[in-house]
Amino acid sequence: MFKTPLSLFAVTGLLLFLTAGLATADNHGGKKIKVLLIDGQNNHDWRRCSPVMTSTLEATGRFSIHRETVTEADVIDWIVDFSAYDVILSNYNGKPWQEKTQKAFVKYIEEGGNLVVVHAADNSFREWKEYNLMIGLGGWGGRNETDGPYVYWKDGKIVRDESKGRGGSHGRAWEYKVVVRDTEHPITKGLPTEFLQAKEELYDRLRGPAENMKILATALAKGGSERHEPVLMTITYGKGRIFHTVMGHDHKSMHGVAFQETLIRGTEWAATGKVTFPPVSPETLPVDKAVSRDPKDIKPAH
Ligand code: ZN
Repeated sequence: MFKTPLSLFAVTGLLLFLTAGLATADNHGGKKIKVLLIDGQNNHDWRRCSPVMTSTLEATGRFSIHRETVTEADVIDWIVDFSAYDVILSNYNGKPWQEKTQKAFVKYIEEGGNLVVVHAADNSFREWKEYNLMIGLGGWGGRNETDGPYVYWKDGKIVRDESKGRGGSHGRAWEYKVVVRDTEHPITKGLPTEFLQAKEELYDRLRGPAENMKILATALAKGGSERHEPVLMTITYGKGRIFHTVMGHDHKSMHGVAFQETLIRGTEWAATGKVTFPPVSPETLPVDKAVSRDPKDIKPAH
């Protein structure tokens, strides 16, 4: 007579077990992308910028962020286990890392670790050859023709310009138009082909080795170089994937939907090689006005 209730108990237990399993697994098996955000030195306001990037990525439900703040005092002996993360997000423009840390970082990227470079992070480490191969292009820090060509878009093609001159400059801040040049790349495939970024300076005249680099989007540097300058780039280094965005000058322009959506997609692509976020409509990311958004208003996509 106890047979039936016991069986029911067993079946209920099994159902509970299965339901619990389903509840913790989203379409990525419940695993969040582990991001290591590095900051602590920058000629930009990293204290206000890093939280905007963290909230933007976390709002999607797809990422978990660990932050390492590396001050000038810390940098002498700072080291971290890069291999514990799917992707490194650099908001760092500061003193060189110790040799041991540089070597560990190069090994991590060579073996398939990944990197996202935001704005002035491409000003860092002029003397570090491997880092410049990873970022493709950089600016300031004394960069010039010995660091590599200028690279820009002209008449439907990428130009590598070896002429002499400084690496890195910008005109006045304005709402610049980003034009997608590679509509098939996973990062840009789901984006409108043209959109405005929130008011900020636009980097131009960057220089670097620019090897294994793709330019996904450009913007015309009005009042600057007057060229179509790279805004979104991907680079491969060893087995590593790198996403480089020149957007993100300050915490206000990081509220720009253009910055946020490209950061989200670029970080997922760097970490996994894919973008699973749905396309972004021209209503969300228009070309006739620059829209900004509190990261709290980003809807979780996963
Ligand atoms: Zn800036």
